[in-house]
Amino acid sequence: MTGGDILDFERHLTPTPVPDAERESLLVNPGFGKVFTEHMVTVRYAESKGWYDARVEPFGPIPMSPATAVLHYAQEIFEGMKAYKTADGGVTLFRPDANAQRFATSARRMAMPEVPEDLFLKAITELVEVDRAWIPGGADSSLYLRPYMIATEVFLGVRPSAEYLFGVIACPVGAYFKGGPKPITLWISQEYTRAAPGGTGAAKCGGNYATSLVAQAEAMNNGCDQVVFLDAVERKYVDELGGMNIFFVYEDGTIITPPLGTILPGITRDSIIKLASEQGHKVIERPYSVDEWRADAASGTLKEAFACGTAAVITPIGTLKSADGGFTVGDPEAMGPVTHQLRTALIDIQQGKAADTHGWVRRVI
Ligand SMILES: *Cc1c(COP(=O)(O)O)cnc(C)c1O
Repeated sequence: MTGGDILDFERHLTPTPVPDAERESLLVNPGFGKVFTEHMVTVRYAESKGWYDARVEPFGPIPMSPATAVLHYAQEIFEGMKAYKTADGGVTLFRPDANAQRFATSARRMAMPEVPEDLFLKAITELVEVDRAWIPGGADSSLYLRPYMIATEVFLGVRPSAEYLFGVIACPVGAYFKGGPKPITLWISQEYTRAAPGGTGAAKCGGNYATSLVAQAEAMNNGCDQVVFLDAVERKYVDELGGMNIFFVYEDGTIITPPLGTILPGITRDSIIKLASEQGHKVIERPYSVDEWRADAASGTLKEAFACGTAAVITPIGTLKSADGGFTVGDPEAMGPVTHQLRTALIDIQQGKAADTHGWVRRVI
């Protein structure tokens, strides 16, 4: 694997910076994924020379031929992570090494070259440094970072591309839920699945999202916020939401979550498993069926369910709907105490309000 020596990044800063007042007004209510910072990182790869041409440049279009491989065969992966402003004006990342490792795992699955961990982290840090003024300071605000890699060879043959672009863009994001998270309603998709054994479910690739959109649209047509996917073989076990992993909290404190395999190995999921265990919960990773979900919600032994991921952190699940009818979990209008406790514990570590006993928080500025 070439590219092990960290490249130097050439900085080409924007000649027309956004005026401070305009940036401040954009940071007040940025939404999610709509406002982008002024710069971006790009690094090129060619089979013959490894990673090269690392640069920070003004945010803008990436010109490409219509015959570029990614446009036809979707050889593409991405990551999602957040940078937080600290009380003393510094900047931290949450478990960026885990994102780097998952990016490498996704790359292998999609027959793409790995970005060495040090290059991945340097690319992130470069962008955070030049665009640090874009990190919102409010509670629950952060700078969402989106590393991605695309196949850039101009070629229509079906084989791995010989050229790639690794890039990073960033957008300021506010609190995902205004006024705190309200329990969401999920649609159980019985027609569509997102991932089969041997497929790409565990890779963070754009294709997984493309296949989820029709199911997500069906969920919304049925008055739900999100779709929940079942396993592709038996159509019986809960996989995940297509962008978030899922947890079930029982009366006796036991917490169940679907095992790794076809689901995306969430870093939030992994962090919650560790935090919940430390808080005295017995956490079990095992297949969990919809029948069990429905029966235990009805009997009342299942007290809470929640979804988790970097964007929304932890979201309570209140109501389920499906072609076979619906049911509710616990109090469908309020976040349960265990969900609340885990959410607070995680956010406090991420925002530097609680001790980081796991070495999860990496200071980059
Ligand atoms: C990114 C993602 C998640 C959540 O992963 P985190 O590392 O916790 O952000 C869950 N499911 C899918 C399909 C994803 O792409």
